[in-house]
Amino acid sequence: MSRPSPAPDSITTLPAHLDAQAALRREAHDWMPYRVDQCSYARGPLRQRISSCRTCGTEDAPVGVCDACAVSCHAEHDLVELFTRRDFTCDCPTSHRARCALLGAAQPRNTGNTYGRNFLGEFCRCERGKRYDPMDEAESMIECLACQDWFHESCLNLQDPCNPIPADTDTSSTTSSSTIESPLLPSTAYAHLVCSGCITAHPLLQRYAGTQGWCMVVPRENVDPAAAPEWAERWDVIGRREPSPPSSTKRARSPHGSPLVKRPRLSSSSPTATPPTPTSAAPKPCTLPAPNPLAQRILASFAASAAANADAAVPPSSSARARGDVFLLPSARENICTCASCMPDVQTLPFPLEDEPEYEPVEDSPGTLPCPPPPLVGFPLIPSPA
Ligand SMILES: [Zn+2]
Ligand SMILES: [Zn+2]
Ligand SMILES: [Zn+2]
Ligand SMILES: [Zn+2]
Ligand SMILES: [Zn+2]
Ligand SMILES: [Zn+2]
Repeated sequence: MSRPSPAPDSITTLPAHLDAQAALRREAHDWMPYRVDQCSYARGPLRQRISSCRTCGTEDAPVGVCDACAVSCHAEHDLVELFTRRDFTCDCPTSHRARCALLGAAQPRNTGNTYGRNFLGEFCRCERGKRYDPMDEAESMIECLACQDWFHESCLNLQDPCNPIPADTDTSSTTSSSTIESPLLPSTAYAHLVCSGCITAHPLLQRYAGTQGWCMVVPRENVDPAAAPEWAERWDVIGRREPSPPSSTKRARSPHGSPLVKRPRLSSSSPTATPPTPTSAAPKPCTLPAPNPLAQRILASFAASAAANADAAVPPSSSARARGDVFLLPSARENICTCASCMPDVQTLPFPLEDEPEYEPVEDSPGTLPCPPPPLVGFPLIPSPA
């Protein structure tokens, strides 16, 4: 008995191969309208868009690649889009598993890059985040300015965490999946998120939490949950007012966009970067606000629960409790006190006061797609040395 035998995968006609390459390039151009023939490695650490390649990387040795390498060297690999990362150098030319199609010769390994579980495709603090799939994820995720991890709005208490948006909105369930609640704070209302883990790890951030411009979602007092079915009836946001800039220490206001919101296939991402402004040499008065007692209580409780639960350094997402995440209004970051006594703490902040501009490769014109040097995709993996 015979079966029709498909053509072996290894045999491809040249026209079919070229067609496939052209289609891949068109798809790549839609995804990223930049030239894809220049790896950013030689520029050193940059604030740039990065993808983790799980085909080339391992748990112990993750590999983050620039946009050009993602398209030109790893197009058929298992990529996790990580959006913009600070101080990152492309790992593609340093990878022992695959040769960089753009730089060719193996380069020294990067020692300054930092990695995390995002490189393994795990995000947020919840079980759902461990199986993150951009095609299935229906809920907006917000990036922490400090650790650059991504969190579901419901895991940030912006929406009811007991009733997150179902991943499959076409589910036949009778729940009203079409009525997506608007979050307590829409992403247009704040400029950055700093997650509670990063807040409690830094004394200056902890001091600012819950003060003007440093919003925190807190439970309303004396509310009977049975009588207040709506999330917004049970939770409040403190710190909603912009801090008034002190006249003597005012820095240039910068145009801030809303925070980076992770959505599948986001085409262009970065908020407008701020040019550096010279710091004044005149002595500055300290502008640290008085601590917010409620925020301090919440953060102390978060730190205690994290210490007691060392395996999961955050409370389980199912618990409807205050978590201590902080949402920075647009002027909050630029008004961080830089007086002489605060400066040592400012210098150890887990993020810069002003972002450097995001590196962007030269824009490509759709009609003149460059043809990167062969092999474009699917170059063989080089076995790692034993
Ligand atoms: Zn690269
Ligand atoms: Zn790869
Ligand atoms: Zn490469
Ligand atoms: Zn989550
Ligand atoms: Zn964080
Ligand atoms: Zn100060």
